[in-house]
Order: sequence, then structure tokens, then C-alpha cells
Amino acid sequence: MANTLFDACFGRHAGRTSPFLHLPDGSVLTHAGFLAMAARIANALKSRGLEPGDRLAVQVEKSPEALATYAACVQSGVVFLPLNTGYTGDELGYFIENSGARLVVCDPSKEVALRPLAEGLGAGLDTLGDGGDGSLMTLAADQADTFETVERGPDDLAALLYTSGTTGRSKGAMLTQGNLLSNTQALIETWKFTEADVLLHALPIFHTHGLFVATNLILATGGSMIFLPKFEVEAMLAALPRATTMMGVPTFYTRLLDDPRLSHDLVGHMRLFISGSAPLLAETHKAWEARTGHRILERYGMTETNMNTSNPYEGERRAGTVGFPLSGVELKVTDPETGAELAQGEIGQIEVRGPNVFKGYWKMPEKTAEELREDGFFITGDLGLIDADGYVHIVGRNKDLIISGGYNIYPKEIELFLDEQPGVLESAVIGVPHPDFGETVVGVLVRKPGETPDFDAILEAAKVALARFKHPRKLILTESLPRNTMGKVQKNILRDEHKDLFL
Ligand code: ATP
Ligand code: MG
Repeated sequence: MANTLFDACFGRHAGRTSPFLHLPDGSVLTHAGFLAMAARIANALKSRGLEPGDRLAVQVEKSPEALATYAACVQSGVVFLPLNTGYTGDELGYFIENSGARLVVCDPSKEVALRPLAEGLGAGLDTLGDGGDGSLMTLAADQADTFETVERGPDDLAALLYTSGTTGRSKGAMLTQGNLLSNTQALIETWKFTEADVLLHALPIFHTHGLFVATNLILATGGSMIFLPKFEVEAMLAALPRATTMMGVPTFYTRLLDDPRLSHDLVGHMRLFISGSAPLLAETHKAWEARTGHRILERYGMTETNMNTSNPYEGERRAGTVGFPLSGVELKVTDPETGAELAQGEIGQIEVRGPNVFKGYWKMPEKTAEELREDGFFITGDLGLIDADGYVHIVGRNKDLIISGGYNIYPKEIELFLDEQPGVLESAVIGVPHPDFGETVVGVLVRKPGETPDFDAILEAAKVALARFKHPRKLILTESLPRNTMGKVQKNILRDEHKDLFL
């Protein structure tokens, strides 16, 4: 039976003995082997009573079996709900309850803690370890290695993916088969992936980046992946000579740059390096080019929309920008107050429309109505501009914008300045309530190990580097910045902590 996403990404490989996953122990999982694994899991899920449309919540370590569980869901019409392995039991309770998951699959080490939680919320529980151990694969081992694909069309839900929770509580984004497949096709066109590609995959598979961007694209083109359980410099250096492409978050690039063994010789043969999920500093882009001869291709996306923009494959990849809208994606910059489209070059909120844009937030009709316009444009929550050459620049999140004495202040500009000051490892700039200015600028600093930043000297330097209204009113030293499980700084926590500074 026809199943849009399954047919395009998975079913097309039936009977192919070509390599799909190159695993750390040197073994290879073929396309046919992967499909058989997926079919056995699909049968196992069915025997647990899961029906098309039911949600399967999966919080497990990265493994071929975990990836095959995603394939099994697509094949059987079950809605895949992957969860960050960093979430605690309490957090998991929210996801299970909010999603109404019918079955939870967790690491065997968490079974004792999670079983009562899952069962209390009306869900079953199975386990899956990173070695393919646990009850799910025990059950799957006795199942047939074929499964009759369930009919699904472009509008049917494929996944419920929760946002990272950087700006507040995570929201469940309803992603359809059409959302995922259209984005995969646009990325293949832009990034020129073919069957010959070998992607170095060290990203987690509970997030859009490692799951949909990387995996769907490789499946749809027939290439293979060097599938590492996590990012680890030694393993990356060892794998790079066998790869043609790599996708990473900015810290992959900075951590590889910290190792002197990263060289032109090591990666000269590669076709493409892609970065996303968080801003790549222009400095990293330049350092990478100087060391390897490659210009990193940065792209921009989010849970709700998959990918929206990308730097060009053939044209100029511009540091500090996220490139152009993908084919089929419309992007505009609007006035946050009125929603009116702004002139080229002006900073405003980024809105996108296209086949990639999700159906809405699960069980949050009000949130959906706030962010998804009736005409199909999604208000991303990011602020940015389109430059004279059409490149999109992200300047930060709308919620992090500081409005002080009537001026708009973009924290990123001040953070870039603070990060360069002696003794400063990293910084976060926030706006806190102020009786005269409405809000004022506060810089929260983390020191370099063993060093103490000189606040007076930094404030003096700010007078030269930044307009007066952007000067931090106060600098605060902290041990570390609060981050969510994706490593993104949670400024709402900082704002809350320091809200009374001037009151
Ligand atoms: P929440 O929506 O729950 O607050 P989140 O927005 O961090 O969390 P994700 O969907 O994982 O959750 O992240 C998408 C966000 O990541 C984008 O809205 C954008 O702010 C940021 N982002 C992604 N790629 C880039 C990039 N290349 N440059 C700058 N920011 C990026
Ligand atoms: Mg978001």
C-alpha cells in the first residue's frame, strides 16, 4: 500500500544489500538488513496493540535499533515521538501525559523508575539498550521480518517532535509525512547528495537535525552513514578519512579545531561540511577555512519547520548568514507589532511558509493560533534581516530582544563584544526591568579557568565599542550559563534570576 514517506525513504531499498550504516565495531548494516529490523519492530509494536495514529514515546541511546524504530513507526503509521536522553523522569511525565503516548520505550537502566510513571499515565513500557538489548528487541526477535506497510498520505502525522524548550516549556510539533519528505527533497536539491555520499553522523537522533535532516536525506538518496553513538574527537578524526560529508552543530567544529590533527590532509577529500541548530560564529567559519580549505555551509531550521534556509552549494557561503530560503519555502521579515512586511535590510521577525511548515502544536490550539497565521505563515520567534544580496541573517530571538529607553538592543552584538574581553570564556546578555528605561542591559559572564575578568576595564572598552544605550549597566560573574539539554542558553532563567536587580 502507498505510504508517502516510507516508499520514498525506506521501501525503495527493499532487497538492496548496499551498506546503510557503518558501525563503530567495523560491521555494516545493509539497507535490506535495516528494513528487516524495522519490520520486526513494526510487528512487535503491533503485537503491543499500537495502531496507526498512536504515539510511541522513545527515550533511548542512539543505536541502529533506535533508528529502525523510527522506520517501523513510519511503516506502521504510528506517530514517532523521540525524546532527548537528558530528560529526567519528571520531564518525561509531561511528555507522556501531553502526547497521550500509548507505549514508552526507554533504556533498560531507567525501567524501574519509569514503569510506574508510564503505567500511571496509561502507557505500556518496553526497553531498548544501546546494544540492541531490552524487551523490545527480545519481542522483535520472534517476529516476521516483513510487515505490510500501512497506507499513509502526505497529510498524515509522521512524528510528534517536541521543541528544545529554550524559551519555555517544550511544545509538541505535529509533523506530517509531507512536511518531512518535501524538506528532504529540497535539501537534496540544494546540497547535491547522491548515492555515493558517506555521511559522518555523530548527532543525536532525537532531534530534527540528526533524525530528519541527516537520516531522511541519506535514505532518500541511497547513500550510507558512519553512525557514531556520539560526538567524540578521537572517533571523528578516525572516521573523517572515510566520509564525504559531515553535518554538525557549531561545537563539533570548534572542538575539532581545538585538535591540531585537524588538517587539510585529513579532510581535503571531503565534499561538504554543514552546520546548524545554533549560530556558527563567523570566527569559526574563518578558522575552519584557514585550516582545512573548506567553507562550512550554514543552514537554519527548527523543530516546527525542518529546514528553512541554506547557504548555497555552488555560490558564496557567507559567514554569519544562513543563506537563502530553500526551494518551495517563502520567507519574509515582518514588524512584530503589526505583522506588516518590512523593507529589505530592516530587522524584524522571521516568518516562513511552505510544505515544510508543521500542522500545529499538539493539544495547544492557542499557541498554534498565536504562531501559525491563517495564511500559512509561521512566526518563527527569531529576529533577522535579509541583506541586499538576499542572504538571511539571524540576529537573535524575539523573546531575548531588549527594549531600553525606546531603543531595540540585540543581545548578540553585545555578547560578541563581551566574549572577546580578556578572561571571559562566554557571556549571555539579558534585559532586566528598570524603573527609568523599562529594561536595561545586564551581561552575565563565565570566566576562563583561572582568570578573573576586570569589570572596570570591560565597561571602559564598551564605551569605545558600543553606543551608549547598549552599555551593560551591570556585569555579573557566574559559574556556568543555564542550558537546556540541547546545550542552548536559557535566558528566561537568567532573566528570572536577575529580575529585581534595579527594582
Ligand atoms: P523552544 O522553541 O522550545 O524555545 P528551540 O527554539 O531552541 O526551543 P529548536 O526547534 O530545537 O528549539 O531550535 C530552533 C531554533 O534554533 C531556531 O528558532 C533558532 O533560534 C535556532 N537556530 C537553528 N539554526 C540556527 C542557525 N543556523 N543560526 C542561528 N540560530 C539557529
Ligand atoms: Mg523554538
